[in-house]
Amino acid sequence: MSEHIKAVIRRNKARGRRCEVPGCYLPVQKIGRLCERHDGTEQRTGHHSGHSVRVKELAPYLKDASRYIKQHQHHPAIAEAIRRTAELVYGSRPRSVGQRHNATPHERIYGWLDRLEHAAVPAEELLSIVAAMFFYREDQPNAFRSDRHFRHQLVLRFLRKAPAPVAARWRSGEGGRRYDRITVATRDLLATKLENTIGLVSLRVAMVLHQARNPYSPEQNAAVRTPLPTSKETE
Ligand SMILES: [Zn+2]
Repeated sequence: MSEHIKAVIRRNKARGRRCEVPGCYLPVQKIGRLCERHDGTEQRTGHHSGHSVRVKELAPYLKDASRYIKQHQHHPAIAEAIRRTAELVYGSRPRSVGQRHNATPHERIYGWLDRLEHAAVPAEELLSIVAAMFFYREDQPNAFRSDRHFRHQLVLRFLRKAPAPVAARWRSGEGGRRYDRITVATRDLLATKLENTIGLVSLRVAMVLHQARNPYSPEQNAAVRTPLPTSKETE
């Protein structure tokens, strides 16, 4: 443990620092700004008060996104996004470098892409997941506490398309499937990669699908959000 970290721990302890989350008065865990519980949630979801997006939760959006992408797979924008997704997973890149315990975040991404490749997950399906996440955010912006929360959940849903590797002995020793933790640095890096390659097309698909579900124009939606006069003014 470095001298700097030791000093931070001593200082936090001496000051009796409290968790930064409003309404939470628990003391911070050793070196952070958050208590143990909120820090755990942030590590897991990308936000101290965020949640993990479940398969069921995304299902209605994924259904529409998959259908749309299948139907328009030969449209130049969709075709290019499918090609880029395929290139990411199946194209030329380092392989079998992600499993080392000291692997860098870049190498860990390659390890996760190896798993998607071994599972032969079609590029169309992976693109549909990304488009569905953007669609979900268009439809339910409050489901995501921050941009970071969204980006982390995007990566988690993308990578969970690969089946978990079988763990020979797990808990009671019966064996089963266990997901490895996807590190925070891996999520940040892959989110940027996904946004740079297929983010724009995914967002455009999301907006088309959202518009189809929502018959009002953006101007009409803005109109109903205009502040109303106070009751005094109406007297
Ligand atoms: Zn807290």
